[in-house]
Amino acid sequence: MTTNDNWRMETVAIHAGKEIDPTTGAVMPPLHLSTTYERKADGSYHNGFMYIRGDNPTRRSLEDALCALEGGICAATFASGMAAIMTVFQALRPGDHVLIPDDIYFGTKVMIAELFTPWGLSSEAVDMTDLDAVRAAMRPNTRMLWIETPSNPLLKITDIAAVAEIAHEAGAILVCDSTWPSPALQRTLELGADLSVHATTKYLGGHSDMLGGAVIAKENSPFFDSVRMIQQNGGAVPSPFDCWLLLRGIRTLPYRMRGHCENAQRVADYLSHHPKIEKVYYPGLASHPGHAIAARQMSGFGGMLSIGLAPDSLHTGEQNARRMANRTKLFVQATSLGGVESLIEHRASIEGAVTNAPANLLRLSVGLEHPDDIIADLEQALSDEVTLERLSV
Ligand SMILES: *Cc1c(COP(=O)(O)O)cnc(C)c1O
Repeated sequence: MTTNDNWRMETVAIHAGKEIDPTTGAVMPPLHLSTTYERKADGSYHNGFMYIRGDNPTRRSLEDALCALEGGICAATFASGMAAIMTVFQALRPGDHVLIPDDIYFGTKVMIAELFTPWGLSSEAVDMTDLDAVRAAMRPNTRMLWIETPSNPLLKITDIAAVAEIAHEAGAILVCDSTWPSPALQRTLELGADLSVHATTKYLGGHSDMLGGAVIAKENSPFFDSVRMIQQNGGAVPSPFDCWLLLRGIRTLPYRMRGHCENAQRVADYLSHHPKIEKVYYPGLASHPGHAIAARQMSGFGGMLSIGLAPDSLHTGEQNARRMANRTKLFVQATSLGGVESLIEHRASIEGAVTNAPANLLRLSVGLEHPDDIIADLEQALSDEVTLERLSV
């Protein structure tokens, strides 16, 4: 179905990449598992599909849907968020220079250090919220600025339009990892980014049951042609089943994001008044340094937040953080984010020695359970009961 330009996000999410199946009349797109397609006597193919890795109908529907959702012109999907990110870096050339944010998804940081620095890419981490620092870090061979907003795990907000201007003035491209806001909360391409990248594993999939990634482009360009070439020849493509699950997840994305935002705001408000919490990192709080920019460039503040636990007379902030994560009952202590269920995680101990995450920080992916139940769980996890239990053992 061709989506109507006037449709709102909720409508686009439900109808994008979908058409009535001409052979069966099926309303929802079928799952196409065939790896190969018949070639006709004249050498052509029935619908252009030839071999599953190059293109297939389920992936095509997904890529069309992602374009419509993000307001892009073309999209390439991948077997994981990391495969999507790797492809963008591979489309550069050895000797190119890139700017990356000082607060960045841990996997991206490791990938640059372990794969792309040896390959010949030079990179510099800058505070993308400090535009003078961004300008000062530009070099003649800077080809790409990579941003992540809100960032992981410190929820820093980068002004996409302002950084796009700096990039474009220097002939560089701006790429934004938009996993956390998802297309429902942030119009990354309209704000000025050239490419929007997603770990579709997170909010787009939304149910913690599939792995995937996507790169969506504002315009056709030689750079996106390289992304497509690497997708098809590198082969890190998603399975049709994961594409189909993702299409299913996308249908409810705008409504899920509303619930995530509503619940996370309640949690942030509650925790920001809690005496055991030293700091709440959530752009929906008026006290957040990026609040004004977030209010301008996002339609909601998202479902992710981080908190810093205060030390007390018996424990360090880190001990209190680990204790809280061990005591939640509804929040599962696990990595990842963006699913319907609430998750809590002590980032520093997951990331190890090279972490930027403060030792007392917990990252929360606020799910779609009832907010009163979510808050009651946090309340009991922060209560003093554990100390009493310990004393009585
Ligand atoms: C999860 C995540 C990734 C990596 O995606 P995978 O699907 O796990 O490979 C990249 N960026 C951000 C912001 C993420 O949250």
